[in-house]
Amino acid sequence: MSSYPTEEVLAEGGVRWILSNEEREHIGKLLDVEASTFGNVKGNVMNRSRVACKKCGKLSGLDDLVYGGVGLGVHTKGLMIDTLLHGPSGASPAHALDCSRCSEQFEGVFLWFSPSNWHM
Ligand SMILES: [Zn+2]
Repeated sequence: MSSYPTEEVLAEGGVRWILSNEEREHIGKLLDVEASTFGNVKGNVMNRSRVACKKCGKLSGLDDLVYGGVGLGVHTKGLMIDTLLHGPSGASPAHALDCSRCSEQFEGVFLWFSPSNWHM
């Protein structure tokens, strides 16, 4: 197992999911752009720690949020890229999240907060 930290609990609330290079690559593939597009994105702050998929063991990540958005077709890829780079326009409602590797639903619900701390 790698000792590279996958997340960081913030004193002001929330948990930063630290974006890994593997996740950058995956998000690039999902959105048809180079992984380096997201080179400056350090991670995103969520309401809870990552959870492991109970079927395949993958840790929940920003790539799963992107996978869900692309799959639902609710956002264009261009808008999703802009959101990843500049933060969401507002806080999100809590929603379910599916594993981007095997499509199993992660346990619980997930949300992010205001855009102000998206990249910190
Ligand atoms: Zn899975």
